[in-house]
Amino acid sequence: MNDVRKIVKEPSAILRPFAVSLAAFLFLVPMLVHAQEFDLLIKNGQVIDTKNGIDSKMDIAIRGGKIAKISKDISAGQSAKVIDAKGYLVTPGLINIHTHVFVGSKPNTFADGVLSVSPDDFSFRSGITTVVDAGTSGWRNFPQFKKQVIDQSKTRILSFLNIFGAGLTGEWPALTGFPGIDDIDAASMSDMIREYPGLIVGIVIGHYHGKEWIPFDKGIQVANDRKVPILVECLLPELPYEKILERLRPGDIVTHAYQDVAARKPVPNDKRKTLVDEKGSVQPFILEARNKGVLFDVGHGGAGFWFSQAIPAVKQGFLPDSFGMDLHRFSMNSGMKDMLDIMSKFLAMGMSVNDIIARATWLPAKSIQQFGLGHLSEGAVADIAILNIEKGNFGFIDSAGFKLGGDQKFQAVLTIRDGKVVWDLNGIAAREYGKAR
Ligand SMILES: [Zn+2]
Repeated sequence: MNDVRKIVKEPSAILRPFAVSLAAFLFLVPMLVHAQEFDLLIKNGQVIDTKNGIDSKMDIAIRGGKIAKISKDISAGQSAKVIDAKGYLVTPGLINIHTHVFVGSKPNTFADGVLSVSPDDFSFRSGITTVVDAGTSGWRNFPQFKKQVIDQSKTRILSFLNIFGAGLTGEWPALTGFPGIDDIDAASMSDMIREYPGLIVGIVIGHYHGKEWIPFDKGIQVANDRKVPILVECLLPELPYEKILERLRPGDIVTHAYQDVAARKPVPNDKRKTLVDEKGSVQPFILEARNKGVLFDVGHGGAGFWFSQAIPAVKQGFLPDSFGMDLHRFSMNSGMKDMLDIMSKFLAMGMSVNDIIARATWLPAKSIQQFGLGHLSEGAVADIAILNIEKGNFGFIDSAGFKLGGDQKFQAVLTIRDGKVVWDLNGIAAREYGKAR
């Protein structure tokens, strides 16, 4: 009885241990939750996200490979890892829509050949998270390309399908063994695009020396059926450029926009015309095509970018829609160093940082109908580039070998693909040696 009375008299005595445990629990739970709330937090960077109209200092939190939160101030205590991006630009992972990455062992050719390059060797170190192969494979060998390169790479690889079944094959530069119009099969092309939705993003027409319009007729037919854009590559010497542009639909893309074909003369009787005329004015038929909605990609490559075209065009406000590299073994050590080099050239020509980032992220994503890429919306895939604009004395070289000086240059400091750090130039995401965690 005494014991019972004692307990009744002092009820808190029996509850005290529970109360202490509950308090500890309530105190610890938020800490545990907070510690695990985000995997990665990028703080203090100047965020440029064209799609969402952001150009301001923001913090970005990542969880499970996705953008979890973007806000003016996210507490460092909420994330397992924090990266200080003060002084840097933070942008969506860069997208390059003109590369040749169907690398293999065949000599002197692109499809499954040594003239293509391995995408991971060139992507993340330039802030690129997505590359698009510009028709190195066709419907005959796309599955091989997928198995051999796409599935083996960390870079996100999408692809245009070549109009020719065998892709960009044949000996270079003579094109010995290059497929002819007999190798164009609209039904097979259409089936292949249907089989890989979101992976094959369009059709490439190029490297055709005939006078027939069959590549365009069949290419546009399939592109209409499958609702994908066409990318027109170079070397269509017998087809008048104005007529090509007339045939293209809104959203179709012309690459090598600033090529001076007159100076280059890649083949006799090349009917392709330059973007600006002899007096430096953008040609009316080019403006007409742009007004219709045709897109113009840089496609720098080894011979596709000339200051004689680009400088007057940029002055007149004719900016590119994307910074395609035309990356391959011949171009990677030429005037074109990488995508950042192309972006830096346009910076040196007076284009604004905002205009440049738009054309390296959201605009190319839209052009290949990849609306989930190229922006930093909450819930989007966490593909991010942290860029520095380096100051100094720099020189930029075009396809004619001319140099343009500049005092600014883009540099990729950190690249994140699917929420994981895949490039870290100066160890800003790494643990300091000799320091406790
Ligand atoms: Zn190309």
